[in-house]
Amino acid sequence: MKLLVVEDETKTSAYLRKGLSEHGFVVDVAADGRRGFDLAVSGAYDAIILDIMLPGLDGWAILRDLRAQGKQTPVIVLTARDAVQDRVAGLSLGADDYLVKPFAFSELLARLHSILRRGPARQPQRLSVGDLEVDLLQHRATRAGRRLDLTAKEFLLLLTLMRREGEVLSRTLIAEQVWDMNFDSDTNVVDVAVRRLRRKVDDPFPDKLIHTVRGIGYVLRPR
Ligand code: CA
Repeated sequence: MKLLVVEDETKTSAYLRKGLSEHGFVVDVAADGRRGFDLAVSGAYDAIILDIMLPGLDGWAILRDLRAQGKQTPVIVLTARDAVQDRVAGLSLGADDYLVKPFAFSELLARLHSILRRGPARQPQRLSVGDLEVDLLQHRATRAGRRLDLTAKEFLLLLTLMRREGEVLSRTLIAEQVWDMNFDSDTNVVDVAVRRLRRKVDDPFPDKLIHTVRGIGYVLRPR
């Protein structure tokens, strides 16, 4: 398995190269955006670990141009702590996953194995479940044709649930995906946010899409 790490902080890239090599990956490192993009479009990699703040060309531009050229190599984006807009942008532009800096190496490894198992992700610009629709490029959610007025966090929470339609997501997993991977298991925050989201997504409509699974978490699925 061959990986590309696009990261300008030499300390981080050296650490990643060492750790990933020890786990059997062949690793190339690009320290600036242009070089990163050139290597990424070559298509020689099984996955790409992409920092956002880069000299030359930033991570968003690399991701956008890569997808625009039809390259579906899985990409894990490294984002700044708690930058919720970054995560929404990343998913919209076709990132397969993201990690918040600073992250544990074991977490990166787990995510990497997971996206490599999944294979190249489908990156739909629209997601729909029943009459609920999300346009990822326009950051717009509608239900029965009616626009839902969601905050950035609510939008990300909805995306997280919709991308895994029918799958029961634990509060911890939701907390990691929407807030922070090191989220300090105050999962009450998740319950409060889901309640707010339901008020907008489900309350005005007869068919409920977001369901509570007692003792575990939540699932989004049509009745
Ligand atoms: Ca950087």
